[in-house]
Amino acid sequence: MNNSGGSVRVTSLRRGAGYKNTPHEGEAVYRVDRSNRVLGNPYRLDDVHDRAARAHVIAAFGRDLERDLAANGPMSAEIGRLAERVLAGEKVCLACWCAPAPCHGDLIAAAVCELVERREEAQAAGSTCRTGAEMSDEFPAKIVQGEAHAVDGSARMASARCRERAS
Ligand SMILES: [Zn+2]
Repeated sequence: MNNSGGSVRVTSLRRGAGYKNTPHEGEAVYRVDRSNRVLGNPYRLDDVHDRAARAHVIAAFGRDLERDLAANGPMSAEIGRLAERVLAGEKVCLACWCAPAPCHGDLIAAAVCELVERREEAQAAGSTCRTGAEMSDEFPAKIVQGEAHAVDGSARMASARCRERAS
């Protein structure tokens, strides 16, 4: 859950009695199963009951994801779009077939959450920075010329501090 009421969680596409992980009404379903060419897990799990094999294919996906995030690749771009949706207040369900068993979707959800938190921090920091810029409105027009450099300077310092906080 973030400030806008948006959220991201992992659900299962399985339906029927006994499956408690199906998306609820009002949630936006985003498939991360193999039909998703970008965020589906290409590493196959032959036996769904084999826990070690499951952990292995999730870890393999995680390594690809980390590389992609570091390189701002297509997975990173898609995760950015999901984060935007959460920030806009959508309740996003990452739907695969695994939940409640561990799923590579858990890693995607974690990456989306992290990005949402970072952007919220950046936004909060941004609003702090704006107070520095707003100060310039208080300066009477006749001294703006002389004071402008000082205002610009402090605004720059403030935004530099914000960047430190946000990173
Ligand atoms: Zn899965």
